[in-house]
Amino acid sequence: MLLDWLIVGGGIHGTFLSNYLLKRKGVDRDKLAVLDNQAKPLANWLQQTDAVAMKYLRSPVEHNLDVGGQALRKWSHDNNIPDTDLYSKYDRPSLRSFNSHALELIDRNQLESLRIIGAAKVLSKHKENYLLKTDDPDLVLSAKNVIICTGQANRLAIPAWARLSCKIESAPIVHLFDKRYQTICKTVNDGHIVIIGGGISAVQAALSLSEKHPGKVVLLHRYPLQTYQFDADPCWLSTRCLSLLRQTKNLTHRRRIVEGARHKGSFPSDIAKQLDAALDLGQLRCHLGEVSCFDHHEHLLNLVCGKKLPCDLLVLATGFAENSTSDFVRDSMQALNLKATPCGIPEIDYFLRADKGLFVSGPLAELELGPAARNIVGARIAAERICQIGRSKKPHPKEYNYYFMASKRG
Ligand SMILES: Cc1cc2nc3c(=O)[nH]c(=O)nc-3n(C[C@H](O)[C@H](O)[C@H](O)COP(=O)(O)OP(=O)(O)OC[C@H]3O[C@@H](n4cnc5c(N)ncnc54)[C@H](O)[C@@H]3O)c2cc1C
Repeated sequence: MLLDWLIVGGGIHGTFLSNYLLKRKGVDRDKLAVLDNQAKPLANWLQQTDAVAMKYLRSPVEHNLDVGGQALRKWSHDNNIPDTDLYSKYDRPSLRSFNSHALELIDRNQLESLRIIGAAKVLSKHKENYLLKTDDPDLVLSAKNVIICTGQANRLAIPAWARLSCKIESAPIVHLFDKRYQTICKTVNDGHIVIIGGGISAVQAALSLSEKHPGKVVLLHRYPLQTYQFDADPCWLSTRCLSLLRQTKNLTHRRRIVEGARHKGSFPSDIAKQLDAALDLGQLRCHLGEVSCFDHHEHLLNLVCGKKLPCDLLVLATGFAENSTSDFVRDSMQALNLKATPCGIPEIDYFLRADKGLFVSGPLAELELGPAARNIVGARIAAERICQIGRSKKPHPKEYNYYFMASKRG
């Protein structure tokens, strides 16, 4: 059957987009499908946020999975969710309320029934339509329009010194976002745990582990720890900063602007306070330093300064590999003869369109949408841009609504 819209990847972005296409664009649900190699919607989100034991989102309540910005706030009110589930002056929702709302929304709008389980292999074109081959030779999908939102979870960043140990099954090393993380953590009884990283995920995971293993956890970070409320300045949600990106025609410069705008390896002040409290109690130690190698036989982490840290479990909270494309994206770019940016991703226009009827959302949209592209709100802005085709080319005034800082909250 020929679909009108095929979404590849049913995580935060794919799920939001499927709901948006149904609700706002009026796409017929029989003509819409979401392909994902995982059975459940939001599988990566649920697993990763659970791994870091995050209590509150970093983003505000307006950034939720329904089509209206106020949906989560209204849902919380209607369901008597306690006020404490909205945190700080930025109204950051608790993970519990965000997830309950998202799962209820998926259920209410029967979004799971749109899912087809399979891994996308390569996109090609047949006449005006796209053909998608999957890992199942019997499953080939055809669609007039395709949105790629495969995220970045399949490409974890593993430092060069850790690659060999990671290949050895028995070595006590695991990436925080590896699906085996929780199980492996349970095997550490009284041992020393070292977490590598200085960003919000590393700190939250370190705090959570130090509650279970007080005095046994070290957070090892390469750069001084930094506090920022958000992972980028909120001006990136408005045309104020986005127009700067648009005016920059050179895509290498654009990439530099996006990288520079991101507050990498930072965390908000509430997490900083929790960290200070854990340090004061001696539950956790922080160490500024760089690893030279991990001796997984002796359970020793050797630092460049010559120091050795005992380490019975090494947790890599090193995030995702930057700017790496998946085989699916690379092979599809080749098959469709798409123009590539200098960083190797499909070149896209204002509507996030790599070719007629072929769109992207998430990290692949970063050179148009800036650092917020990968966040929850990035899916919302992507949906508006994609559905804007054929209408005015002017920046959508709704983007201003996301400028939630000073103007809205005082
Ligand atoms: C711990 C953590 C906390 C975060 N907190 C926030 C926050 O508070 N606020 C915020 O705005 N953002 C936050 N983010 C950032 C971002 O919102 C999430 O990473 C979000 O999950 C990204 O959504 P996504 O759809 O792009 O990717 P994912 O959720 O990873 O979904 C991608 C989907 O594509 C599927 N897929 C991949 N390749 C293929 C293929 N070839 N074929 C078929 N399916 C495929 C995967 O199975 C997956 O289901 C956080 C991220 C992390 C890791």
